Amino acid sequence: MKAPHDQPRILIAGAGIGGLTTALALRRLGFRHVEVLEQTAVLKEVGAGIQLGPNAVKVLHDLGIAPALEAVAVAPLATRSRDWASGRTIRDFPLGPECAQRYGAPYYHVHRADLHNALIDAYGRENVRLAQRVKTYAQDAAGVSVVLESGETVEGDVLVGADGVHSVVRGQLLEGQDPRFTGLLAWRGMADADRARHLGIEKNVNAWWGPHRHFVNYYVSAGRRINWIGIVPAGQWRLESWSARGDKAEVLKEFDGWHPIVRGLIEATDDVFKWALYDRDPWPVWTRGRVTLLGDAAHPMVPFLSQGGSQSIEDGLVLALCLAGLPHDPAAALKTYEELRTGRTARVQLGSREAGRMFHQTDPLKKFMRNLKFRWAALTNSQEKWRRVDWLYSYDCREAVAAKLGAVSASVPAPTADSIA
Ligand SMILES: Cc1cc2nc3c(=O)[nH]c(=O)nc-3n(C[C@H](O)[C@H](O)[C@H](O)COP(=O)(O)OP(=O)(O)OC[C@H]3O[C@@H](n4cnc5c(N)ncnc54)[C@H](O)[C@@H]3O)c2cc1C
Repeated sequence: MKAPHDQPRILIAGAGIGGLTTALALRRLGFRHVEVLEQTAVLKEVGAGIQLGPNAVKVLHDLGIAPALEAVAVAPLATRSRDWASGRTIRDFPLGPECAQRYGAPYYHVHRADLHNALIDAYGRENVRLAQRVKTYAQDAAGVSVVLESGETVEGDVLVGADGVHSVVRGQLLEGQDPRFTGLLAWRGMADADRARHLGIEKNVNAWWGPHRHFVNYYVSAGRRINWIGIVPAGQWRLESWSARGDKAEVLKEFDGWHPIVRGLIEATDDVFKWALYDRDPWPVWTRGRVTLLGDAAHPMVPFLSQGGSQSIEDGLVLALCLAGLPHDPAAALKTYEELRTGRTARVQLGSREAGRMFHQTDPLKKFMRNLKFRWAALTNSQEKWRRVDWLYSYDCREAVAAKLGAVSASVPAPTADSIA
């Protein structure tokens, strides 16, 4: 099927956050034969924000894009969870210097386009093959061949399906299984910060919890814009699209009676969009032979822990480190990656669902108990807040791989800016 190569040839389907992080990590670790196949003809990310946990920012720093991120990101001071109507604080979690010190990297809010640009500038725009939609693949003991929609066949040693929640690679690897519709819809918009100045919005993640729905807002674009997301029951809407426009009056109706900051922010926004939310149950198998899955293709989740993208970033570095640790046995490297990642991402997937149930509580007694629990913990146990998130934010990809592969992965050099070919 192929001439022997000194290094594995790695094909990546999808140039989203996960695919690009993987490609960059591989290049930083010295892999020369990496081919990214992206279906879209023009690379552009949507006009939405994304929260990056310190677990993901640590990876991005490791990959050398700290300066690019710092120039465009906003480091929030706290997550402030508030009552939907009164605005009273239910829970405060520090995300400023205290968090950065504990987890070794800041918590960031970024515009998705800025994150995408930082990744692609570091990897090299010319290294992504656009308008190349992966249709099917075949593999044997010697390699993997990918058939594109154009009819072209691309050959490699490994295929990484980083092609999102409706992954074609997953469809073939796991034979079907559609993602699960959650019954929820995400309204989203972005307001100019100057236009919303009168609302006095704090530099926090402001999470407004209400019955059956919640609303989240935070600054992006170095503070020039405010991103917001409103999660509500979906009604008849089923379309999952970053570009499906909605009607502002409809969003205002969904958040009727909510705090003036929430309504004021919606009013200060020109364009609103809607996205039906899908996820999957955790699945223990992502790898067959030379083919594996990554990011939303492997573990799509509801965005209530704000970790879908962050987990795909972790996936990317872990996979690259496994391939670097076992360069002559790609199948073993992919299996090791799967073993390292399935348990953790399953916990995040299920935790995200659970967070939604907590945010959207309708039972007055349960709501009272929830709020009391947070207030009591804040008064009596200063460590409790960390205990709940340490497992999520303190993850270290290099330590995880080194613990599994021992000396082999420990010998993988840290990436440097000039290790990219
Ligand atoms: C409303 C909302 C808010 C969110 N907020 C956050 C947040 O704050 N923090 C966070 O970490 N995560 C968040 N997420 C989750 C996050 O957006 C995803 O987890 C992340 O984008 C997954 O990245 P990915 O690279 O796996 O997939 P995608 O971003 O979906 O990228 C897949 C890529 O593959 C390409 N592709 C698809 N099919 C093919 C094919 N057959 N051949 C070639 N290319 C193909 C696509 O064009 C795309 O470029 C949120 C999600 C939603 C819906």
